[in-house]
Amino acid sequence: MTEPATVAPPRHGPATPLDIDGIRADFPILGTAARDGRPLVYLDNAATSQKPRQVIDAVSRFYASENANIHRGLHFLSERATAAFDVAREKVARFLGAGSPSEIVFTRGTTEAINLVAQSWGRTSLRPGDEVLVTEMEHHANLVPWQVVCEQTGAAFRAVPITDRGELNLDAFDRLLTDRTRLFAVGHVSNALGTMNPVRELAVRARARGALVLVDGAQSAPHFPIDVAELGCDFFACSGHKLFGPTGIGVLYGRKAILDEMPPWQTGGDMVERVTLEGSTWAPPPARFEAGTPPIAEVIGLAAAIDYVERVGLDVIGHREGELLGRATELVRAIPGVRLVGTAREKAAVLSFVLDGVHPHDVGTVLDDEGVAVRAGHHCAQPVMRRFGVPATVRASFAFYNTADEIDALVRGVERARAVFG
Ligand code: PMP
Repeated sequence: MTEPATVAPPRHGPATPLDIDGIRADFPILGTAARDGRPLVYLDNAATSQKPRQVIDAVSRFYASENANIHRGLHFLSERATAAFDVAREKVARFLGAGSPSEIVFTRGTTEAINLVAQSWGRTSLRPGDEVLVTEMEHHANLVPWQVVCEQTGAAFRAVPITDRGELNLDAFDRLLTDRTRLFAVGHVSNALGTMNPVRELAVRARARGALVLVDGAQSAPHFPIDVAELGCDFFACSGHKLFGPTGIGVLYGRKAILDEMPPWQTGGDMVERVTLEGSTWAPPPARFEAGTPPIAEVIGLAAAIDYVERVGLDVIGHREGELLGRATELVRAIPGVRLVGTAREKAAVLSFVLDGVHPHDVGTVLDDEGVAVRAGHHCAQPVMRRFGVPATVRASFAFYNTADEIDALVRGVERARAVFG
């Protein structure tokens, strides 16, 4: 397996200095202690990111002074909650570059957003002879729902292989993309490798063949500006909790013309137009896909998170994280016995590696002793682990509030793991 000589220079946005102390002060948890009172070094941002007090306050303010169910009640509180909810949808639409708030469906997360498309669009549109194309680097959330719907419909499931660097094999993509491909589902940024995929170019090629394009943006929306129109995708999915917002809230962007044609996948209150005992008709999107009481406080919290990252600036965030990733890559790869897993030319915020002769879980345990929180495992991307011949990796993943000192703590911890187990 070959590794290139250089990896991951900073690449997004301008070099605007950040008031990092001020930013860190916004995140109460960053000031808490980890094991044995050691300062917490939180480098597990790809799993979930921390929340600024602006988000925490928005959620508690909602419960303290605005809580009511939306849409149904005509009373004062319900009107207030409904207005806040609708403003939040408009904010998300603007944040992702959607043409209209009606293209924004609230879900529980990326996983639910992708399952919605698979079970609503896929289950009713796919036929034997059709093909769904994913990639070998997908998170299970953008792989298993497609396997299942292919089994249900008789469509064929295909996957674009990845190279030794952890990039998509574009020749194979061109071979696998055919006139039978009905949908191409691709991660914008791989959570296991950090690879940033050239989604815009891939979308042009896929749509030229008549395929729809779904982008899993769980790992991109928190790190750089997203514009679904510019990406040229039909669907884009992301999760609030990775975007410094609450858990239990995610977003599906869907192109209006396609959402309009899709049937509901869950039914119940708030998604119908007319119900009689003989049958029911559906509300237009997005309500059609939001049966039941939505996660109202979580939506309010997500809007506050978007306000927060927009205030910092997603370009600025991307640039800072590029610097952090560049530093971490250089220092970690210099540790004897370290092999980086994922050395794509375009990467974002994720550093995956293994340490010769030491199980990733043992590296994770030593790091945990030092107060450094990383993830050791397969990262819900088992085909990636198989591709690189490892059972698991250690994954450090960064957010803009991380510091060079925290990367030094990571490096010291890996060196200690090597001394203890190596
Ligand atoms: N896709 C990717 C690339 C992810 O990293 C994740 C979360 N690890 C998901 C999908 C699923 O997101 P969620 O668990 O928030 O639904």
